Parts: sequence; C-alpha cells; structure tokens
Amino acid sequence: MISIKNLHANVEDKNILKGLNLEIKPGEVHAIMGPNGAGKSTLGNVLAGRDGYEVTDGSVTLNGKDILEMEPEERAREGLFLAFQYPVEIPGVSNLEFLKASVDAVRAHQGKPALDSVQFLKLAREKCKAVNLDQSFLKRGVNEGFSGGEKKRNELMQMMLLEPSLCILDETDSGLDIDALQVVAEGVNAMRDANRSFIVVTHYQRLLDYIVPDYVHVLANGRIVKSGGKELALELEEKGYGWLESADNGA
Ligand code: ADP
Ligand code: MG
Ligand code: MG
Repeated sequence: MISIKNLHANVEDKNILKGLNLEIKPGEVHAIMGPNGAGKSTLGNVLAGRDGYEVTDGSVTLNGKDILEMEPEERAREGLFLAFQYPVEIPGVSNLEFLKASVDAVRAHQGKPALDSVQFLKLAREKCKAVNLDQSFLKRGVNEGFSGGEKKRNELMQMMLLEPSLCILDETDSGLDIDALQVVAEGVNAMRDANRSFIVVTHYQRLLDYIVPDYVHVLANGRIVKSGGKELALELEEKGYGWLESADNGA
C-alpha cells in the first residue's frame, strides 16, 4: 500500500523528519503515537503534499507510484486522504457542493462518470445518517460555524464518500467528547476492509480501545523509534515516552 523509506523533511528550513521508515500493507491499521512536536502532523502533511513541507531525502510510494512529485490533488485521486487535525472553513461554498466536487474529481480519475445531483444527494444523506450529522449540514458553508465534533464527523463523512485507499487521521480524538469519539470510531471501523489502510495519529491510548490497530509505532525526534502491537499503546500510557526518547539520543 504505502512504503516510506528514509524520509527526511524540513519545515521552514528546520529538519523535522530525520529518516523515517514505515511500510503499510493493504487492510492494516497503524497507530502513530509520540511526544508533542515529534513530527507526527508533519508526516501527515508531507504525505498529503501540503505547502511548506520540503522533502530533502527518501521516498514514498503509494500503490507502487512515487507520490512525492505529485500535487496534493493528484495524491487524493490516487487514494490518499488526510483528515482531522485542523479542518478548514470554506465560507460561501456549500458543504454538499464541496463534497460533490471532491467525489467527482476522484471518480473522474478512476474513469467513472460523475454522479448526478439527485444520486449524490441521496448518498450524502445516507452518510450524514451514518455519522450522526443532521442533513442541514449539507446546505451550510463548509465547516462554517461547525463545532469541533461536527467538523470531524463532517470530515469522516467526506472520507466515507471518497472511499480512499489510505486514510490518515491526525488526532481524531482531540476535542471530541466520548460520544463523538465513538461515532468517529464506528465510522472508521465500518470502513476497514482488506484493501484500505489507515494511519491513526493519536496522543492517547483511549482512541485505540475503539479503533484497534494492527501495529503501534512511536515517532520521536523525526523517526520511528519503536514499533509493536496494540499492547505497546498500553505500555506507553503507563511509562510515557521518556524512556524511548533517551534511548534514541545520540543514535
Ligand atoms: P506533532 O504533530 O508530533 O506534535 P508536528 O509535526 O506538528 O509535531 O511539529 C513538529 C515540529 O515542527 C515542531 O517543532 C513544530 O513546531 C514544527 N513545525 C510544524 N509545522 C510548522 C510550521 N508550519 N512552521 C514552523 N514550524 C513548524
Ligand atoms: Mg502536536
Ligand atoms: Mg500533531
């Protein structure tokens, strides 16, 4: 699915990712944990191709294709989806129009015809229901005046409509109450299948009670410094990250 080799990246000329390696196979869910400022969001942003992130070494292939030279839109059409940490507001563009445009673009790339408006509305309404969002959200401006939980459920809905092959969720749990967290987790779990992979970035073990990962990695100082199964998250909850960061010093 995705293969990240020796990835080095800078933000504002500061080296943040320092030789990160990660291999994810179809169907797998990988959790990434780690201290604040370790580079977790940077990794998501680099993979998505956001502006301001400069890759200085290494490679990233998605389904065998080098994505580092692709524009963010192309990466999305290749099946990559980055969600959640800071969903943007787009006042004046209705949520429904925005969702349809993003789905049409991906379908066009896959050689599929655009859905007609009636079909799409029906589909969007189904997804609203699935994420427990009132249908009035389809008419509002994208994320305009949405609460934190509503933004996340809206983005989950977008993810469900786009059916990406690699979903990257950055701190899905921050700012969500337990009910909203469960809705998001159920949505993610419903999307899990043999051909879709997830990178779930989280600070807290709690989310991983709901979205049970196949692997847990610790990102510290711009690298993966430890990998394990889901039990690693429990160990981190208990011991923190200090023991790993000091182990990485001077490496
Ligand atoms: P994490 O998500 O693990 O908490 P980030 O990837 O957000 O960490 O940040 C890693 C480092 O990169 C931090 O030191 C942060 O201050 C810096 N950084 C991230 N984005 C920017 C930016 N746009 N401008 C300057 N520094 C940034
Ligand atoms: Mg952070
Ligand atoms: Mg972050």
